[in-house]
Amino acid sequence: MTTESPVSSLQRGPRLVDEVAARLRDRITDGTLSAGTRLPQVVLAEQLGVSRTPLREALRLLENDGLLKTVDNNRTVEVVTVGPDDLLDMYQLREVIDGLAAKLAAQHGFSAEEASLAQHLLNEMAESSDPYDPVRRNRAHTQFHEMIAVASHNTKVQSFAPLIRTSSAALYMPLNRAHAEASLLAEDPAKSYKQILDESQVQHREIIEAILAREPAAAEAAARHHIQRTIRLAPHFG
Ligand SMILES: [Zn+2]
Repeated sequence: MTTESPVSSLQRGPRLVDEVAARLRDRITDGTLSAGTRLPQVVLAEQLGVSRTPLREALRLLENDGLLKTVDNNRTVEVVTVGPDDLLDMYQLREVIDGLAAKLAAQHGFSAEEASLAQHLLNEMAESSDPYDPVRRNRAHTQFHEMIAVASHNTKVQSFAPLIRTSSAALYMPLNRAHAEASLLAEDPAKSYKQILDESQVQHREIIEAILAREPAAAEAAARHHIQRTIRLAPHFG
């Protein structure tokens, strides 16, 4: 059991361990490490160009997040499979957590730093939609939802940061991404994937505008509405 805050990296800048964990998440997002893939830690350390100690710590972090498991007496790493049931469980909880986080953040209001970070992340998400860059978008998207949890000023809400990171990364895992794309397009074949990403951008902006306007009820409704879309998709995954 660690006493360290799950969101400490946002508060004091990334540590090497957080950066290694983020790079591993990137490799899961871009499919280099796919579900069920097993890799010896030695090979992974070589591929990432890091020593074993930060790697081991990063793996512990991702194992705690529920994205990886270590097998073979900790010598080998395996990417877990996140299926439709897992996604539904995670996003049903996130509807409540994200809604509460946005409501509390609106009650507190953003600091100047938080307001500019939110704007920066909205820009990052817009730029990584066209041309589509899933790794960059997943990083910005995850940080976006994590920062709202931080801005809630509620440590229990902040303790759900691993859920936010893993449920976000799971959506971008190649198999899930393909299912998301297919089912969203099946709902409305006239749409392009770019339009779907634009809709999500509008939802993100609505959440931030309600927080900036200090409107708790509107912020909660916007955050819940955003997560409900993913819940509708969950049965089509896997
Ligand atoms: Zn989102």
